[in-house]
Amino acid sequence: MFDTLIIGGGVSGMSCALVLGSAKNKVFVTDKKIGIFTHQKNSSLQEAVFYNAYGITPGKLGSELLFESTQDLAQTYPHIVQIPNEKVIKVEGAFPDFTVTTNKNSYKTKSIVIGIGSANTFDIEGLMQYIEPHKKALPEKQRIQLKNNDHKVAEGIYVIGTLAGWRSQLAIAAGSGAAVATDILTLWNNGVQTHSHDSIR
Ligand SMILES: Cc1cc2nc3c(=O)[nH]c(=O)nc-3n(C[C@H](O)[C@H](O)[C@H](O)COP(=O)(O)OP(=O)(O)OC[C@H]3O[C@@H](n4cnc5c(N)ncnc54)[C@H](O)[C@@H]3O)c2cc1C
Repeated sequence: MFDTLIIGGGVSGMSCALVLGSAKNKVFVTDKKIGIFTHQKNSSLQEAVFYNAYGITPGKLGSELLFESTQDLAQTYPHIVQIPNEKVIKVEGAFPDFTVTTNKNSYKTKSIVIGIGSANTFDIEGLMQYIEPHKKALPEKQRIQLKNNDHKVAEGIYVIGTLAGWRSQLAIAAGSGAAVATDILTLWNNGVQTHSHDSIR
């Protein structure tokens, strides 16, 4: 049983995983099992090149980020379970007992975080009822988002990145994933506000 499973290994999903991973020494996190589906097809990153994203060396290819981000996560936070090459097709159940089914396996988790982008090809059975037109994209692009209130779709279900209704910029997607990570950390800390910082001191 996972405590949280992140669906989508693009910008928002990896950012969420990094912040959750970095909190590993907090007492309310040590017993938590965290996983991420790093299915990398259909990512906006495949064809992107970045000159305007904070902290990213100008000229960085999105395809490089896709590869390097999973390597960095594995090296820095090896306790985060990476599940590559599996596409999520179904979510069943309710908080705190979800079953996430992929094209290869199924997994039990207490909560899920969905960051698979805002394309209208979204096709995860069990989540279709939350789809609505994207409120911050051009109508002719027919983007979608999941209905949410500050990233929360329903008890134990969070949405991040462009699928949460944010405009398509790397920094916004990363911030949205990090924001939900701190929401989950706060929940695990019995509602007491928290975040995760490293320091040289
Ligand atoms: C050509 C192009 C150029 C861009 N240039 C810039 C730029 O210059 N500056 C900037 O700030 N932004 C740029 N962007 C935007 C930026 O890349 C996106 O805003 C950002 O990637 C969105 O992050 P996300 O997490 O919402 O989605 P993505 O990063 O697209 O991540 C979605 C992830 O979900 C996975 N996935 C999809 N379906 C499933 C499923 N069923 N099961 C499991 N996993 C699944 C995908 O494989 C992918 O890994 C560009 C985008 C494009 C397309």
